[in-house]
Amino acid sequence: MAKIVVIGAGTGGMPAAYEIKEILGKDHQVLMVNEHDTFRFTPSNPWIAVGWREPKAITFQIEKHLADKKIEFKCARVTKIDTEKNQLITADEDIIDYDYLVIATGPKLAFNTIPGAGPEHFTQSICTLEHAVECKVDVDKLLANPGPVIVGAFQGASCFGPAYEYVFILDKVLRDAGIRSKVPIHFVTSEPYVGHLGLGGVGDSKSMLESELRQRDIKWICNATVDSVEEGVMHISELDRKGNVDFSHSLPFQHSMLIPPFAGIDAVANVEGLCNPKGFVITDEHQRSPTFGNIFAGGVCVAIPPAEITPVPTGMPKTGYMIESMMTAIAHNLHSIIIENSPPKSKGTWNAICIADMGDTGAVFVAMPQIAPRNVSWFKKGKWAHFAKIGFEKYFLRKMKTGSSEPLYEKYALKLMGITRLEAEDDDNDINKEL
Ligand SMILES: Cc1cc2nc3c(=O)[nH]c(=O)nc-3n(C[C@H](O)[C@H](O)[C@H](O)COP(=O)(O)OP(=O)(O)OC[C@H]3O[C@@H](n4cnc5c(N)ncnc54)[C@H](O)[C@@H]3O)c2cc1C
Repeated sequence: MAKIVVIGAGTGGMPAAYEIKEILGKDHQVLMVNEHDTFRFTPSNPWIAVGWREPKAITFQIEKHLADKKIEFKCARVTKIDTEKNQLITADEDIIDYDYLVIATGPKLAFNTIPGAGPEHFTQSICTLEHAVECKVDVDKLLANPGPVIVGAFQGASCFGPAYEYVFILDKVLRDAGIRSKVPIHFVTSEPYVGHLGLGGVGDSKSMLESELRQRDIKWICNATVDSVEEGVMHISELDRKGNVDFSHSLPFQHSMLIPPFAGIDAVANVEGLCNPKGFVITDEHQRSPTFGNIFAGGVCVAIPPAEITPVPTGMPKTGYMIESMMTAIAHNLHSIIIENSPPKSKGTWNAICIADMGDTGAVFVAMPQIAPRNVSWFKKGKWAHFAKIGFEKYFLRKMKTGSSEPLYEKYALKLMGITRLEAEDDDNDINKEL
């Protein structure tokens, strides 16, 4: 019997645990280790931050749902990975043995790289549930005492979609409250242009998002590097294409939310030979560490090069469907190694499908593959996308409760659009037969 331990019950780790258990069957043990006892649906955090969702609507207890699928659960924070002994050490100094390890620990939020940034200082965040709840308190203060707002993404950020979502949602909240005229809004971003998204743009994302910002009287500053933040003032250098300072701005703010650069969590980053300098796990095309053959990784914790060099550093986002495709590949590769005694062969397609809410409208993009040049590059907006995002939230939460990572109708509906999780899918595989 092989023991597979998954660290991190987030967007990637939960489907990974379900798929690995399903594909390996009852003869093998799957254990999930997560620092919280609840699953949190991160894409709904912008709604939490403005009070459109309560935390209980987007969270659920992990243990009971995993138990239904005979997956074990331990609520613990991993502080060390001992690759020589194949053991995890937790904050309570418990030791967990593994035969195979799947790392799905998401990001460490690197606010510390910008003086005055982050909820411990002067800017808000929506990256975790706790941060979004704290952000809501600041939004309430803004509603009571309107003043200037700055939203965007710091230098080195890779996750731009939620910054756009948040600025459009906040604009709607302020308009609904009848105080938008008292709130000048700036969108400050490290992207070289609006709609770059860390992806070099997708379809018409530049002109569509510029148009949306213009229609809502939101001014923008691109190629922005934030030098420091003080209480109520943000100091920004706007760079030119050569990376020289073109303009310096000191913008006042009453409320501010900027997405930070991401890094790897300490327990992962500290393993010698596992990660790049930012602490992201280096993997081969099968999501496996080239150094440690029994360690796989997927999701935000994985090292991916930027889409292109930009005057202000930006990273490539790791989006939900892309993450699920990595996890499907890991499950299939564990099957190859453990059951078939053969080398891993599955590769995730890393296709990106993303739905962004914009308050009363929304946008959807499809990028196949996520890294250009692409076979499909598509960006559309409309009210239907706002409702699609609400539907997606309910759908994903249900999938994670029922333990069906890729229901048959999802698999075949997406296949009709040419979207699959695995490159050259192996339809003879047992798991596909079962589905
Ligand atoms: C605000 C926001 C909105 C987003 N919206 C979208 C969207 O709409 N669509 C989209 O495609 N993508 C979206 N993304 C991008 C991406 O899909 C999410 O960030 C996604 O949650 C990443 O999944 P993950 O599994 O890599 O990490 P996470 O979902 O962050 O999961 C990591 C898990 O590991 C746990 N963990 C971390 N360290 C330890 C430790 N030491 N020990 C034990 N457990 C640990 C964490 O508690 C967490 O449960 C969004 C990202 C953000 C920040």
